[in-house]
Amino acid sequence: MSEPVDDCVFCKIIAGEIPADVLARNEHAVSFKDLHPQAPFHALVVPLAHHADVAASAAADPSIVGHAVALADEVARAAGNDHYRLVANTGRGAGQTVFHTHFHVLAGSSGMTERLV
Ligand code: 5GP
Ligand code: ZN
Repeated sequence: MSEPVDDCVFCKIIAGEIPADVLARNEHAVSFKDLHPQAPFHALVVPLAHHADVAASAAADPSIVGHAVALADEVARAAGNDHYRLVANTGRGAGQTVFHTHFHVLAGSSGMTERLV
């Protein structure tokens, strides 16, 4: 499913129906600040096409994921963060709460040098 979904908060942000602090937007994806930042720099990168998670986007069209990663790099560097972490929670058990593909772009904290994996 890549058409906008009525009850999807990110589809609403993409449509301009819910305000967001937008950092960048192109024909493939939009990036905006996370409402509840978990790092000094915490942006989300959201493909315009609605799919439930990053694997579903990749299955539909791998370029969706490539474009999202490219925009993540752009917004991180534009904010002065050459080093950053991308996170794509996939499934409730991994902490996913919004079921429209997105990457978290996290940077700017001394704690970012701590390894997650
Ligand atoms: P998830 O938990 O699915 O990996 O990430 C969803 C993220 O979306 C959360 O970090 C949450 O803070 C953020 N979020 C949820 N609703 C909104 C919203 O309306 N606006 C913005 N800017 N972020 C949101
Ligand atoms: Zn959506």
